[in-house]
Amino acid sequence: MNGITLHKHDLPAGLDFGPVVAVDTETMGLDPRRDRLCLVQLSGGDGTAHLVQIIPEELSGQGINCPNLKALLANPNVTKLFHYGRFDIAALYNALGVLTAPVICTKIASKLVRTYTDRHGLKELCRDLAGVDISKQQQTSDWGAPELTPEQLAYAASDVLYLHTIWERLRALLVRESRLEVAEAAYAFLPVRARLDLLGYAEPDLFAH
Ligand code: MN
Repeated sequence: MNGITLHKHDLPAGLDFGPVVAVDTETMGLDPRRDRLCLVQLSGGDGTAHLVQIIPEELSGQGINCPNLKALLANPNVTKLFHYGRFDIAALYNALGVLTAPVICTKIASKLVRTYTDRHGLKELCRDLAGVDISKQQQTSDWGAPELTPEQLAYAASDVLYLHTIWERLRALLVRESRLEVAEAAYAFLPVRARLDLLGYAEPDLFAH
């Protein structure tokens, strides 16, 4: 498929995504403790995407062996760009035992500056900030299937292909509204937030009364 490369088990060695890599995951569901990690999508913002499929049989063995992917997620010199990273960081930590950092989250940025709307989904951001209409039709499909369909691969890639454009637009808005600093502080806290979720502090929240 055009610009989409599927890998099994791990990224190949030597791939360079640049200083900021967009990352998304697909899992068996919405609970990062219960639902296994099936796919990790990455893009350097050049219009191409690399997808890493986590194969089910790995889960029964000695854990998931993906040293190249793990090194990238933990690399302090590469910022990982997410949309709603809270979930993905928790899912990655639960499955791979590596805490992703440093990170940026377009959902947090959007909530801090697009205060005129309560619609902060990726579909809305793609449409409003990147002028792209992405389909969410495959969102609820079976990501645990051993052979993913071309429709699933295209959908999965679309979740990382436009994040750089969205991030640049949101960053300019954060600067305009003098909220870049608080956004960056929130990004820095995000890996801790994900760990708290895995510890059972999602609801009620640790900061609630
Ligand atoms: Mn996704």
